[in-house]
Amino acid sequence: MRFGAHVSIAGGLANAPPRGRRIGCDAIQIFVKNQLQWRAAPLRDSEVRAWKTALAESRLAPVVVHSSYLINLAATDPALRRRSRATLRDELERCERLGIAYLNFHPGAHLGRGVAAGLRSASAALDSICRATPGYRARLLIEATAGQGSVLGARFEELHDLLHGSSFPERLGVCLDTCHLLAAGYDLRGAAAVRATLDQFEHVVGLSWLHALHLNDSRGALGSHRDRHANIGRGQIGLAGFRALVREPRLMALPGLLETPGGDDAYRRDLRTLRRLAGRRPPAAPRDRVGVPAAGRRRRAARLGANKAGRRRGAVSNRRGRRAARRRGLPLAARK
Ligand SMILES: [Zn+2]
Ligand SMILES: [Zn+2]
Repeated sequence: MRFGAHVSIAGGLANAPPRGRRIGCDAIQIFVKNQLQWRAAPLRDSEVRAWKTALAESRLAPVVVHSSYLINLAATDPALRRRSRATLRDELERCERLGIAYLNFHPGAHLGRGVAAGLRSASAALDSICRATPGYRARLLIEATAGQGSVLGARFEELHDLLHGSSFPERLGVCLDTCHLLAAGYDLRGAAAVRATLDQFEHVVGLSWLHALHLNDSRGALGSHRDRHANIGRGQIGLAGFRALVREPRLMALPGLLETPGGDDAYRRDLRTLRRLAGRRPPAAPRDRVGVPAAGRRRRAARLGANKAGRRRGAVSNRRGRRAARRRGLPLAARK
């Protein structure tokens, strides 16, 4: 899994990739505009160029955009529905210009009209957006929700209906949020529960649709339909649940993005926790080569006398070696 977090774009889009690297991300999620406003100034060419340069330097991948919270593709008010479509389409256009692979959105709320009518509205909206943007490569990811109120997309069956009701299924996908899953009633508290929930997703929706994960612990209980994120290991899913999630072979190739509270320092802690649970070393330093697995990096480092990997020459890193080194007053490898 490629771990990352939802990173702020304060000061400009181009600030997000280096910020993500400083936090310790391998992948990031961002907003492409103020998520609480309908309209935003069009992207300037200089902004697009600065973003592309910053992203290339950061070597983060993939990037996921989270759409505006105002959007409701299933709104009962036709004006609001139109506005929602136009905003999601505008965000898709921004993703395309920025070369971003995924636009994650919530399918909307039916506001009392019923699930079937809500899903029909959302499907029609997605079709009209895809029809208006032929050839776009940015994929629209339907986020599974906690099912609070009349919010759609909390049941795997609803995700299935949205995907299979689409005239452009090749342009859609799914993002599963672990907090939302638990709140929606899909258990993730331990290895057996994680396996069973994924089996169910595989059976009802299909794993080939799954492109991204939001890794959030849940303050709300199983089936509570409360969308309240908690830091990793501090909620109902707990460390055992996340250990199973980050070690699950079916999820290995996906980005796992934090949306946990507490800001950048909390993200750093949560990323450390996830990597520890995955049995993995901390991420490569920003300027290290990306894509070289840790073991390969260690072998290469050994060949190069350990210097290139950012360790002090002659530093001792295994436990027995560390004890012996401490006795002999040798330098220890920096531990992150
Ligand atoms: Zn989410
Ligand atoms: Zn949420």
